[in-house]
Amino acid sequence: MAITIGILAYQGGISEHEYLVKKACSELGIECRTRWVTKKEHLEGIDAIILPGGESTTIAKLASRFGVLEELRDRIAKGLPAFGTCAGAILMAKEVVDRKTKKVLENPLGVMDISIVRNYYGRQRQSFEIHLEIPAIGPKPFRAIFIRAPAITRVGEGVETLARLDGVVVVARQGRMLATTFHPELTEDTRIHRFFIERVAKLV
Ligand code: GLN
Repeated sequence: MAITIGILAYQGGISEHEYLVKKACSELGIECRTRWVTKKEHLEGIDAIILPGGESTTIAKLASRFGVLEELRDRIAKGLPAFGTCAGAILMAKEVVDRKTKKVLENPLGVMDISIVRNYYGRQRQSFEIHLEIPAIGPKPFRAIFIRAPAITRVGEGVETLARLDGVVVVARQGRMLATTFHPELTEDTRIHRFFIERVAKLV
């Protein structure tokens, strides 16, 4: 059976995610379609959602304006698998914290039991690449690209840490939700997408 992966499509690496989803599916031998989600109706019938990076405040504003945010919150809470990268991870977090003021900001979806600090690496390390060990996807390090990235500074009880960097969590999973603070869609490496999609395929 074919699966349909929705991609929240206001901003960010939308076509990059789409490309990697298709590549991952073909490597896994899974028939899949992708659907760009900008309106509530687009959520109908999807088997999973990918939340790309970008500017979390902008994405949240648009998603809210189009009624997608509320509907998505509901669907993820009911078990729709979700994969957030960078700003997408911020959207999912229960607690979003400002780096400078340490103030707790609004949490757009608030579905994943993690605390996340926006722009964690500050100006000096705004963007960087690193070879990251993620044992869950295999022994070969993953080329992780961080762009004004956040960091997961707390994980709740039901959350599994899949990778850390300098003491903070950069890949986490809770049930059907997966979050990375970097951009796997900017590489040709499909392993994180495969890790997500394999589980989605098992559910349908
Ligand atoms: N700094 C952005 C934010 O706070 C996230 C950056 C990204 O997605 N690359 O929303």
